[in-house]
Amino acid sequence: MEILEGTPLANKIKNEIKDFIKETKVKAKLSVILVGDDMASKIYVNTKTKALDYCNLEKDIHFLPKKTTEKELLNLVEELNTDNSVSAILVQLPLPDHIDTIKILSKIKEEKDADGFGITSMGKLSIGRSNIIPCTPKGILTLLEYYKIDTKSKNCVVIGRSTIVGRPISILLSQEPYNATVTSCHSKTTNLKDFTKNADIIITAVGQANLINSSMCKNDVVIIDVGMNRIKDDTKKKGYRLVGDVNFESFRDTDAKITPVPKGVGPLTIASLMQNTVLCELGRKVSEK
Ligand code: NDP
Repeated sequence: MEILEGTPLANKIKNEIKDFIKETKVKAKLSVILVGDDMASKIYVNTKTKALDYCNLEKDIHFLPKKTTEKELLNLVEELNTDNSVSAILVQLPLPDHIDTIKILSKIKEEKDADGFGITSMGKLSIGRSNIIPCTPKGILTLLEYYKIDTKSKNCVVIGRSTIVGRPISILLSQEPYNATVTSCHSKTTNLKDFTKNADIIITAVGQANLINSSMCKNDVVIIDVGMNRIKDDTKKKGYRLVGDVNFESFRDTDAKITPVPKGVGPLTIASLMQNTVLCELGRKVSEK
C-alpha cells in the first residue's frame, strides 16, 4: 500500500501563497461568517483562521448567534459584497435549520464566492466554466495531479453526492482535462461492491467508518478518502480518534494507493481555500482594469 499524504503538498501550497503575498504586496481578505455555536464548525473556522494568518492573508470573522434571522444574514452578506476591503466571503456550514442555505450562499457575489457553492458558481462548474472550484474537490484534483494519477478513461466511482463534495467532484472528473468515466453512488445505491470492484479510482465522501475494505476493491485501486469520522478511543486525550470511510488496515498487503485520515484531503481543502481567497482578489483586480 502507498499512502498519498496531503499535508506536505498543502504546506507547499501555503508557502507559495505566503511568498506570493510577500513579493507582490497583494492584499487579500477573507470574511468568514459563523452562525451558532456548533463545536465542529468552530474548530473548522479556527483551522481556517490559522491558515490565513500563516499565509499573511487578512481576515474578519463574524460570529453570529444561532437566533440570527435569514434577513439579518442576507444583510450581512450584502454588506460584505459591497465592502471593497473584502476579497472573498465564506459562510461556514451547516447553517441553523431556520435559514435557507442555498439562498444565503447564492447571495454571495460570484466574484467573492470563496467556496464556489453559490448557484452561479455551481452552474458554471457544470458547464466547465468555473472561476472558483469548491475547496474539497479542488484539493482532490490537486492531489491527483501531484501524485501523477492519470484519470483519463479510468473507471472512477464517487461515493456521496452532496453539493459540497460528491456532486462537484463527479462533474469535474467527467470533464476535460480529467476525462474519467464517472459513476455516482449514494445511499440508494444497491450493492456498492458491484461498482467499487471495477473502479480504478474511488472517491469516498460519505462519513461512515469502514464503508470500504480491500475485499470490495481491485488490488491496485486508488482511493481518495474524504470521510471524517470520530471513533471512540480511550487511549487518546480527546477520547476519540479521526478515521475516514476506508478500513485502512485491510489494504496493508495490497498495491492500493490511499489518502490517510487525518493528513489527507483535509489539509488540501484548507490550502484550496487560501488559493481561492487570492484568486477572488486577483479576479477582482483584473475586472477593475
Ligand atoms: P453529506 O452527509 O452531505 O453527504 C453524504 C453522502 O453520502 C450523501 O450523498 C449520501 O447519500 C451518501 N451516503 C450515505 N450513506 C451511504 C452509503 N451507505 N453508501 C453510499 N453512499 C452513502 O456529507 P458531506 O458530503 O458534507 O461530507 C461527507 C464526508 O466528508 C463527511 O464525513 C464529512 O465530514 C467529510 N468532509 C471532509 C472534508 C475534508 O476536507 N476532508 C470536507 C467536507 C466533508 P444520499 O445523497 O442518498 O443521502
